[in-house]
Amino acid sequence: MTTFTLHGQAVSRGVAIGRAVLAAASRVDVAHYFIAPEQVSDEMARLRRARDTVIDDLQRLRHGLAHDGVGAHAELAALLEVHLMLLQDEQLQEGVKHWVSERHYNAEWALTAQLEVVARQFDEMEDPYLRERRADLEQVVERMLRVLQGAPSPLAHAPTPSAEGEALVLVAHDLSPADMLHFKHGVFAGFVTDVGGRTSHTAIVARSLEIPAVVGVRNASQWVQQDDLVIIDGDAGVLIVNPTPMMLAEYGYKQRQGEVEREKLTRIKNTPAVTLDGQRIELLANIELPEDTLPALAVGTVGVGLFRTEFLFMGRGGHLPDEEEQYDAYRRAVEGMHGLPVTIRTVDVGADKPLDHHRRDEHLNPALGLRAIRWSLAEPAMFLTQLRAILRAAAHGRVNILIPMVAHLREIRQVHTMLAKAREQLDHRGAVYGPVRLGVMIEVPAAALAVRMFLPHVDFVSIGTNDLIQYALAIDRVDESVAHLYDPLHPAVLRMVADTIAAAREAGKPVSVCGEMAGDVTLTRLLLGLGLRSFSMHPTQILPVKQQVLRSDTRKLQAWAQQVVASDEPAALLVG
Ligand code: PEP
Ligand code: MG
Repeated sequence: MTTFTLHGQAVSRGVAIGRAVLAAASRVDVAHYFIAPEQVSDEMARLRRARDTVIDDLQRLRHGLAHDGVGAHAELAALLEVHLMLLQDEQLQEGVKHWVSERHYNAEWALTAQLEVVARQFDEMEDPYLRERRADLEQVVERMLRVLQGAPSPLAHAPTPSAEGEALVLVAHDLSPADMLHFKHGVFAGFVTDVGGRTSHTAIVARSLEIPAVVGVRNASQWVQQDDLVIIDGDAGVLIVNPTPMMLAEYGYKQRQGEVEREKLTRIKNTPAVTLDGQRIELLANIELPEDTLPALAVGTVGVGLFRTEFLFMGRGGHLPDEEEQYDAYRRAVEGMHGLPVTIRTVDVGADKPLDHHRRDEHLNPALGLRAIRWSLAEPAMFLTQLRAILRAAAHGRVNILIPMVAHLREIRQVHTMLAKAREQLDHRGAVYGPVRLGVMIEVPAAALAVRMFLPHVDFVSIGTNDLIQYALAIDRVDESVAHLYDPLHPAVLRMVADTIAAAREAGKPVSVCGEMAGDVTLTRLLLGLGLRSFSMHPTQILPVKQQVLRSDTRKLQAWAQQVVASDEPAALLVG
């Protein structure tokens, strides 16, 4: 058997070794025929029934997720939401109706004809995230076709690991989030797909399940044969087919090392995050849904440093959550943390987080447009609703409010005014609410440079390095063609992070980092050396970062950290 290697994108870390299971090519064969004019209403009724069945299926899956208690599935739930929305998309429905009633196409033909029309529009979109949503559309249409034809999902009967206990690796052209749910109980040790990028379903789901995966391995599903032995190197983005005994031994070792590492990490779950020189470090979680508090607590977090509330607002066809719905979500997060603090960020939609995924942001440059606090201040009724909901949730525990994308001092002043107004409205109603501390995100270079002016007006600051890097280096976060320029270690970025930490400490105000830099273990020592004592990150990163904290002596890191910031080659110093 020939050994060969295929390359793709590394999207979920770790090594998986197992037998390949090829998911059947997913396209459904579609019959094309004309119906008689009097059959139009029956044909439309068939389509409606198929659509309702798929909607029921997806809703059941989503419901199952919500009750799974596994908050890391939040992104997966959001994807199901996108599918549900696409099914109800007017353009799809109207188009299909047109093909059936005007052209007398049969239901299946009408569906695929309209799919082509809409898919072409997706192809023309500039935003890679939105372009990838074409695959979502194809998947929902395919599900409807299967229902129309009474065919089961190709993965409805997921295999079980072989009797010899050999692991299985799934190789597919693409996988829908609904199909992937069949694997959440650990049937597959790894995933490989022909298509997709970092924001594809396979990538997102594999990361949230912490399963090694490589996506965008062109033609993998054609090159790999059923039952081939394969190795997935999720760190390097490589798929090795029919490995040599030497490769097997090497990767087997790497895999065991990873397991030992993970096992070791669980042992420090309840160890306080204190450095060798006795500095207590706050390791907080970033969450997206109230249910995410569970996995956050499971790794021993001491609070939520960033609750991204936009997930409540997105994908609802413009229908925004009302005060009760928001209050309910915030209260659940606050109660879920059992007295530990929860920092709720006001809605940050726009740019990479549009209100509706399938609707392209019409603005020329959405990252510089009406997003985050700018949008909130432009929609005072919406903003006041959110502030009232947060204030009411604060009656149930410790709550901080965090404002995204602040660039001007007057925006902070306006937020204070709005907060006072929200309290007044609640007083007027006799509603119960609690105290909140107000903080701003430092994620626009202007805010980093003017942070000393902002500090007297806020209770704390939190550095959003994801956007800070985007804006400092002028690179679109979601544009793959400039992804190689995205550099947390650029001297300008380090300078701003270092200055913000220093300024906040001088002013005696708490400062934390809640962008990806906080969860990057290669940067933990640097941030500690710069004086950072509060880190907020995806819950999966909390234990690896804690391990770094436990091994660090901040006294020894200070001078070195200043050297790194001043260096023209910080990366070299970091390794050394
Ligand atoms: C950031 O910009 O670093 C951040 C934490 O916010 P988001 O990633 O949600 O924009
Ligand atoms: Mg941000």
